[in-house]
Parts: sequence; structure tokens; C-alpha cells
Amino acid sequence: MTRILAPIRTVFFTSVVILQFFTILSAQETEVEIKVTLDPRPSANVRVILPRPASTGGRSPLWFLDSYGSETGLSKRVSDILLFDRSGTLVRRQDLRPLERIDVADYGEIRYSVELTPRQGQFSEAHISVLRDDTGQLMLDDILPQGIAKAVKLKVDAPAGWRVIHTEIETQPGAIEIEDHQRSVIYLGSGIRVHDLRSGGARIKLAISGEWQFTDADAAEMVRSVFAQYEKIFGKVAAPILTVRLQKLVSVSGFGAWEADTRGRNVTISSTDMPFKSQSLQRLHEQLRHEIFHLWVPNGLNLTGSYDWFYEGFALYLSLKAGVAANRIRFDDYLDTLSRAYSIDLIRPSRLSLIEASRERWKASNTDIYARGMLVAFLCDLSLLERSKGKISVGDVLRRAYERHGVSKSSMDGNEAIVSLLREFAELRPIVDRYIAGSEPIDLEAAVKTAGLVYDKSMLRVVAKPSGGQRDLLEKLGYNSWRKLSEGKR
Ligand SMILES: [Zn+2]
Repeated sequence: MTRILAPIRTVFFTSVVILQFFTILSAQETEVEIKVTLDPRPSANVRVILPRPASTGGRSPLWFLDSYGSETGLSKRVSDILLFDRSGTLVRRQDLRPLERIDVADYGEIRYSVELTPRQGQFSEAHISVLRDDTGQLMLDDILPQGIAKAVKLKVDAPAGWRVIHTEIETQPGAIEIEDHQRSVIYLGSGIRVHDLRSGGARIKLAISGEWQFTDADAAEMVRSVFAQYEKIFGKVAAPILTVRLQKLVSVSGFGAWEADTRGRNVTISSTDMPFKSQSLQRLHEQLRHEIFHLWVPNGLNLTGSYDWFYEGFALYLSLKAGVAANRIRFDDYLDTLSRAYSIDLIRPSRLSLIEASRERWKASNTDIYARGMLVAFLCDLSLLERSKGKISVGDVLRRAYERHGVSKSSMDGNEAIVSLLREFAELRPIVDRYIAGSEPIDLEAAVKTAGLVYDKSMLRVVAKPSGGQRDLLEKLGYNSWRKLSEGKR
């Protein structure tokens, strides 16, 4: 076996080396300058110096991102497009229709302006580029044209007194080397407090603005502990520098609203506060548990396509379990959340499979994916724990996905990779067939029996007298840590 494999690996390695050699010979990076201004309105004035195309005569179309998640019409924010030839002479002015492609084969530079006035609705506050009076975020994917190379050299000119925060390499002050601009976020502002944290091999920049019920030190400790919890499950995160950005949500008043985005190595949380410190910390822990999970899954995976059911459903489930393990939520809250997901799944109007629903996520079925995805993760956990007598849980499956499909591994279709990974466990095959690839109603009552749980009056609860085996399973789900906590409080 080894003999057959060895020559193939050698050939592959050689071809990779040759490929890189040619790339370096013809490489010339795209250079970008962004001047951020508030006057007369919040905007980014962008200058993109294009590398000379590798071959002449071909078309080089560029266009601008028009929608992200539920936000649409983004390309309408782009105006005043000027095209220059390679000697720097202005040769064309262009107005842009949404989704229009501009052929830049003969040009050396493109300049334009992107309006960054905050939009209505809380989704936009964490997911697209916006600029407020004293802070802002540049999601480079919606600022730079689509169709350029991933790597860019960037200079940001921010208003006087503003800091520029990012996770990229700065070769000299102000010269930022961006590896993949579509996964890059630049935070900037005058009132951002940056705390440098370390966990395992990673450096985490915690960038906070606004006043909260909790202190910056509380938040820093929490980021560190949540991060360490996931490092135990997954192992080290592939990225050396990460940012967690915590800012106030402004489009919604009142308590408890939040919106978050984890892109590349950057977690953006836009949130309102809670009435009391304990609730505020509780909420922050919930946000961090969900978003920091995404630094590994899906952001640390080299998987493509819409497999949102997996990374959202399993994020919700694992973060729920992590909340119980960290004594942040009670086992009752864990059961309560799963019960609510079940009632959502019972009445969902669409009968799409999870894989189909993930493709349609932003059209209608976002809640379905979260609810059903989480229930499926729970069912997987139950089956794995039951079959392995508590030795294998859903965390082990996630770790295997991370080890097998990490960013250094070759790219694969996400649904294919995850479904085949789950199918390696015989006990998970019926779950895949019935609830992931199929769209059968979930039979929760039957699934929870062996764990000593019953579904009764729309609620999951622990049976009155769990057997020894049931108690072992309950403990693996976190039941014991809740019991210890409530005994400690008495
Ligand atoms: Zn998520």
C-alpha cells in the first residue's frame, strides 16, 4: 500500500512546486488605498492599482458585490468610477448599474467611492461595511471589486485620531499585506479599547467600544475561557492572530438584541446591553460561545458550498453544551432550548431537506436551519454517546472534521464531506438518511428515551428515576455539572 502511494505523492509535490514557481514569476500584487472620510458623508474613497494581466488580449471583468446575507443593493453604494490607463491618464468615467461588469483589461487603475452611511436594520450592523461618527468596519469583500486576486497590499488612511485594527501582517507601519481580502475585516475608530490576549498558540485582539454593564476585564476573561474550551475540543486554531470586536448595536433600542459575524479570523459582535450585569455577562458568553466556534467551523475548514445546516446547527448545539459545561446555563436551559427548536421544527411550513434548505437559507428557511440543524446535532450526540458508552460525542466528530478538512487540506464540497464523515459512524446513518438528506419529521420522543429524557407537554425533561445507564448518558450531556452547581448554591 505504502509503495503504491509513495510515487504518487512525489509527483503531486513536484507539480505543486512547479506551479508555485510560475506563479511567483508572473506575480504582481493588486495594491489598494482606502481613504476613509466622514465628510460630506461617511464613505471610502478607493484606489485599486491593478497588476498587469498575465496574458494580453483576454477580458478582465470586475464587478461589485450586490448582496450579502439578507442585505441587497450593495453595489448601489459604489459611485464615481474612474478608469486610468497604465501611464496614469484618466481615460474613462463610468456609472455602474447593479451587477454590471467592467472590463479592465486595458486599464492600470480604478478609483471609486463607496458610501458607508449605516443602513436600516440590525443585520447590516455586523455584516457589511459601515462607518459611524467615531467607529466603523470595512468588510473588504463589499468594498473591493469582485474578480481581483485574493491577496492585496492595503493602505488605510483613517480620520485623525482613529485606530486601525486588523489581523493581517503589517510589513511596515500602514502597509498591510492581506492574504484573502474576501475574509478580511478592518476595524477602525477613535474610541476602541484594544486588549491583547493569549490562548494556546493564538493571539487574540479584543477590541471593545461603548460602555457595558461588565468591565473590559470581565469580557477579556470570558473570551479567553471560551477560546480555551474550544481549543480542548478542536486543538489549536489554524490562525495565529484573531480579533473579537464588541460594539454597540445602534439601530435597535432596548435590551437583548444582537447581530454577529465571524469572517476569516474576525468575530464582530454588535449588541445592545442587558438590564443587569449578570444577564449582560450571560448574553456575552452566549454570543462568544457561538461565534468563537465559527473560527474553527466553518472558517477553519476548506469546504465549499452551502452546508450551513452543519456549521450553524452544530455551533448552536455545541455552544449550548459548552454553556452547561462552563456552568453558564443550567441543564434545564439546555433542555428548554432543544424543546423550543423541536416545536419550531414541528410546525415548519417547508418540507425541504436540511441540505436543500441551506441553499435557500436567505430566502425563507433561516430559522429552520438553525432549529433542525441543532436538533440533528443533538440526535447525533445521543447516538454517538449511546453506542460508544460515553466515549465518543459530537465534539469528536467536529474535531475529526477539523483535522481532515482544515485549511491546509484540499478543497471539497461541504455537504459531501460532512455527510460522508457522519456516515462513517453506523449509528448516524439513519439520522443522515432521514433528517439531513431526507426531510422526515424528527421523532424526538423515541430518540431521547435511552438518555432518560421524555418529551411531555412540549417540554423535554429528565425522567423521575433514571436507570444507571441513563444516568451515565445524562452526565455526558452535562446533567451532573448542573446538579453540582445547584447543590453548591443551596
Ligand atoms: Zn452562526
